[in-house]
Amino acid sequence: MSKQQFQTEVSQLLQLIVHSLYSHPEIFLREIISNSSDALDKLRYLTLTEERIKALVGKGIDPPRIDLDLDESSKTLTISDTGIGMNEEDLVSHLGTIARSGTKNFLAQLSGDARKDSNLIGQFGVGFYSVFMVADKVEVTSRKAGDAKTYKWTSDGKTGFDIEEVSGVDELKSAGTRVLIHFNDAGAQYANGWRLQEIIKKYSNHIAFPIFLTHDKSEWNDEKKESIKTRTMEQVNAASAMWQRPKSELKDDDYKEFYKSITGDWEDPLLWFHTRAEGTLEYTTLFYIPAKAPLDLYQADYKGGVKLYVKRVFIMEDSRDLLPQYLRFVRGIIDSEDLPLNVSREILQQNKVLTSIKTASVKKILSELKNIAASDPEKYATFIAEYNRPLKEGLYGDFANRETLLDLIRFKSSKVDGLTSLAEAKERMQPEQKALYYITGASESMLRNSPLLEIYRKKDIEVLILDDEIDEIVFSSVSKFGDVDLKAVNKSATSEDLKDESTPEKAEELKPLLDKIKATLGDAVKDVRVSLRLADSPSVIVSDEDEPSARMRQMMQAMGQKNMPELKPTLEINPDHEIIKKLLANPTSSRVDDAAWLLFDQALLLEGVALKDPTVFVQRLNRVLNRSI
Ligand code: ADP
Ligand code: MG
Repeated sequence: MSKQQFQTEVSQLLQLIVHSLYSHPEIFLREIISNSSDALDKLRYLTLTEERIKALVGKGIDPPRIDLDLDESSKTLTISDTGIGMNEEDLVSHLGTIARSGTKNFLAQLSGDARKDSNLIGQFGVGFYSVFMVADKVEVTSRKAGDAKTYKWTSDGKTGFDIEEVSGVDELKSAGTRVLIHFNDAGAQYANGWRLQEIIKKYSNHIAFPIFLTHDKSEWNDEKKESIKTRTMEQVNAASAMWQRPKSELKDDDYKEFYKSITGDWEDPLLWFHTRAEGTLEYTTLFYIPAKAPLDLYQADYKGGVKLYVKRVFIMEDSRDLLPQYLRFVRGIIDSEDLPLNVSREILQQNKVLTSIKTASVKKILSELKNIAASDPEKYATFIAEYNRPLKEGLYGDFANRETLLDLIRFKSSKVDGLTSLAEAKERMQPEQKALYYITGASESMLRNSPLLEIYRKKDIEVLILDDEIDEIVFSSVSKFGDVDLKAVNKSATSEDLKDESTPEKAEELKPLLDKIKATLGDAVKDVRVSLRLADSPSVIVSDEDEPSARMRQMMQAMGQKNMPELKPTLEINPDHEIIKKLLANPTSSRVDDAAWLLFDQALLLEGVALKDPTVFVQRLNRVLNRSI
């Protein structure tokens, strides 16, 4: 026997679970049963795909089932499964370390507030360790499919665990796992058959494998006029694939329960779409949208997505191949009648059947969302509050559905409170308005006060405020909404829309000043021009249509992008501004030097760009200030 320590994170987690997160100790059973169900899924898949394992069916692999055996008097519960099992190494790494990103995230998110944190348990599913809420000792005996040896892992959930090889009566004769729980005081309430049935029905009714409970059942004996206990085994769950049942038979609660059982989420889902396709391809999909976007949705190791079944047999869990990346928040199942059972991941990637299902599923999800946007705006607002950003990601990769996505995405606007759609903004367009305009940047208030918006405000033209960090990247690739152009107001070409007859005249008039400023700023700018878009500010920075903006470049540099070619912004000058008029009176004066730099630097600051040399800026500002006092 070897005594081993838990990984530090495991000890931390165990401490937390036992000492502060006890609001729903009953979830231990859901976690243990779902592990059994996962183990049965994995083994079933191997018996379909691996010859070596296939050969063991009936000789070392038993039919799939989960058994609960309760001993009320000794307050112990055994949960056994005929699943894939674990060898010695597996026991150490799966039950002794936190290998799962979900649990790591869980630890990172802990706030110290027990009520909030216990909700997080639901979101992440702390998994196996939750058993120590109710146990003072747990023994996990397991034999891995294809192996001959049985190992036992024992722990009190405090310091560490022991692992030993077992033989004789303790040995398992076929693949599987047996978890023996010794209930502690808090867990004693679960040493009760009726209570266990209730919990299984609540959390695990839709587990696709039969769950049997063996316990002492009290029954009234009429002859003896007393209730006597008989050892009874009964099946507790429905053990059917709920998604295959007709919609008419399914209640909201069935959908909610199934959602919780496959995701471990605590909350009810926001939406679900259940579809059965018949025709050339036969398949069923049941998609859910969680009420809250998972906290790790934007992390590279996010695991979520949709499970693939073939003829009700679980094949794999995958977020990448089954739905596009931007829909990774969608949970649920796809069950196909047409795929072969022994599909491998590689085959799946280029499988025509799956591609068709995928295409149809994306269309379905997006069109359902569109319906909800129209029929239940309040619910749609809740959806948008969580998922506007992933939808925007879709603009980047899903060209086929771009128009629908543009319909679904919501925007802040210079004209309306809250959020608006492009369709609504289009409705509000002025008769002479040539395009739909937007501005991108880091902070909403900065954008709302940007000098770039002045002219639009004056002309009563709406500008959409895009302050999400991905907006600039994503929308630079979107040039149209239906037949209307979509234009960034900080791109130089947009000023074409603002031109009128007086423009060339003004440019001519300002030329001496423009030349002087250009000479002063030298390499720092690409060009200095007359601005058509300013009302109250003297200057503004714009970039060319096909160039990343100044702010975007700073972001890319911050993210480690090296060797970016030096970008030169274009400085635009407001010919009607008092300062410019004064400068124009004496364009060659040496005072124009300081003014030129201040006009440039202030424009950069308003664009959210940090100045290269703030000291020089401040010195210059003070010099000018000094002259003016
Ligand atoms: P999760 O199920 O989310 O991976 P858990 O903490 O519930 O996390 O379980 C950790 C790991 O232990 C599982 O991923 C699995 O590899 C292993 N495990 C737990 N229970 C069983 C079981 N009954 N049969 C086989 N493996 C199991
Ligand atoms: Mg688990």
